[in-house]
This record gives sequence, structure tokens and C-alpha cells, in this order.
Amino acid sequence: MSGKTIFVVEDEKDISNLVALHLRKSGFIVIEFGKAENFLNYLKRTIPDLIILDLMLPDADGLDICRQLKTSHDYHSIPVIILTAKSEETDKIIGLELGADDYVTKPFSPKELVARVKSVLRRSEIKNSEKITAGKILSVDLNKYEVFVKDKKIHLTQTEFNILKILLSKKGWVFTREKILDMLWQGEKAVIDRTIDVHIKKLREKLGEAGKLITNVRGIGYKIEE
Ligand code: CA
Repeated sequence: MSGKTIFVVEDEKDISNLVALHLRKSGFIVIEFGKAENFLNYLKRTIPDLIILDLMLPDADGLDICRQLKTSHDYHSIPVIILTAKSEETDKIIGLELGADDYVTKPFSPKELVARVKSVLRRSEIKNSEKITAGKILSVDLNKYEVFVKDKKIHLTQTEFNILKILLSKKGWVFTREKILDMLWQGEKAVIDRTIDVHIKKLREKLGEAGKLITNVRGIGYKIEE
């Protein structure tokens, strides 16, 4: 895990330095931020492997930052560990509901925090291996059944999701209607070919801008291309 980049967003210098010191000892690259603004600007240029986020920042509420990250197309898969004071029990719960991957209560042992970092990174490696993107605007999380077009989460039916997954499994390949039907129902259901056209029409509409990535190859079937 050494060589991975961790952003530490914490205005209390003593805590930030202590955390950074222990993470560096474990081989991580650490960048510290005392303000949310600096952190968010830097994030536009560099995506870290994990973010340690204090909830009480001088220029922002850590929970807002967490929400912002976890609903963003570009940042939602970056693991976040939140730092909270003991009295902020509700914040801890809200943080987890917002999608934070773990939390550590102050005061904490730096060794424990490093252990948490490693465990969250291990989990996220497994999770992220199941993510597919296309055309820079479409992103699909196969484990969470989540589809994002840019920043927007798209709600698909199970069948629409499965069709999208099939097309994404081999980008550029043309899937015939029969092939898609076969992969969807494994020959269990007798569905006429037209059904696929209807599902794909709806899928394209829901995907909006990213819908153009799905193209109809006249007389043959469908494909998805970058
Ligand atoms: Ca603070």
C-alpha cells in the first residue's frame, strides 16, 4: 500500500502533523490541508487514494464537504474517514449516512488510525475493481448498482441496468438482440426482439447526454462506444 496518497484535512496543526507523521512512516504520501477551500482546489488537480476529513473546519462544515464528495461523479469513490470529537456523536452517524467509509473519534491513537486507513483502502480496492466508465461521462458501479452521468445519479430498472452492463462488458462490440435477450433471461423467457428496442430507448432517454454512447448498428444490434 505504500506510495498511496492520503489527503489530511484538519485545521488543528498538532493533530494533522501527528497523523501525517504516522502515515508517512507506513509509506504513504501525505498532503495536509488546514482549510476546506485549499483542499477542494487541490482536489481538482490531484485525486488521492483516501481522504481523512475533520468535521470542524474553520471555513466549512466537514459534513457538507463529505456530502459534496460522495454525491460527485468525480470524487464519490474516494474513501473518506471522518474525524470527530466524542461530543459529535450525531455528526458521526450523519457522516456514515452520507457515505463516509469509516470514522475515528478524537482523541485517537495514530496507530489505530493508520490501521483503519489500511483496512478502508483494502475494502475500496475490491469495490473499485467493479467500476466501469465510458465516454468520460458515464460511470457504473456494478456492486452498488449505481449509474452516474456526470454528477447526476440515474435510476434504472433492473433490466435497463443489466442491458447497460452487457453492452459495457465489451465496449465497441456489437450485441445482437438475440444475444442480449439470451444474456438477460438465459433462454428462460420468450420475449420478442422488439422488447430490447423498447428497453434501450428508455435506457438512452434516462442516460441523457450519455445515451448517445449507445448506438444502433442497423440490422444487427447495439453497441456502446467511448
Ligand atoms: Ca477542527
